[in-house]
Amino acid sequence: MTTYLFQPPATASLPIRGKNERFPINRLFFVGRNYHAHAVEMGKPVDKSVERPFYFTKSPQTLVDSGATVAYPPETTNYHFEMELVMAIGQAGFRVSAEQAHELVYGYAAGLDMTRRDLQLVARDKGRPWDLGKDVEQSSVCTEIVPMQGVIIEQGAIALEVNGETKQASNVDKLIWNVREIIADLSLFYHLQPGDLIYTGTPEGVNAVRPGDQITGRVEGVAEVALTVGAAE
Ligand code: MN
Repeated sequence: MTTYLFQPPATASLPIRGKNERFPINRLFFVGRNYHAHAVEMGKPVDKSVERPFYFTKSPQTLVDSGATVAYPPETTNYHFEMELVMAIGQAGFRVSAEQAHELVYGYAAGLDMTRRDLQLVARDKGRPWDLGKDVEQSSVCTEIVPMQGVIIEQGAIALEVNGETKQASNVDKLIWNVREIIADLSLFYHLQPGDLIYTGTPEGVNAVRPGDQITGRVEGVAEVALTVGAAE
């Protein structure tokens, strides 16, 4: 038996609706700029005919259960919500065609890609990595995984409220690169594995939160996510 100098960190995991087992997390992938109206509000419109999707990753340790209260993070004054459909990979795949992409799908969840927008934009505009803006501790909020093996979600309302006021309202049929296309493209770069989560991108309406804010959001037919922003540490 392997012995370690200190106790290794626990494997990140999420509950699975209707099951006692938890879904162990391997990697967290995020699609950037995947709704036209959000790309425009970021000042970076997308022309799908000449562009490919792009991605960033966050550490699995950033995962936090829906319903948590999370302290307002350090070194930002512009902490943003991003409401997203999350897909959960249940089967390994490499160079998967769009036609076969459904075989990798275990299920879906509703998630928040919380972002230090001030630091992300500085990094973006200086050509630096996005880590300090995106790979924020406790910034990857996610609901339970809803098993939908082999199902491709093509449409459904996606919405978010802060303190009961609607801030984001769109439909996942507006994804620039849809679920099939994301799996196919990402699997060109990575050997996708069971336990990988893919946050598919946020629609328009992203904005800043403050300590005390109550965030709720949902993807129709999937789940409802919640987060309370606590005081700054
Ligand atoms: Mn995002």
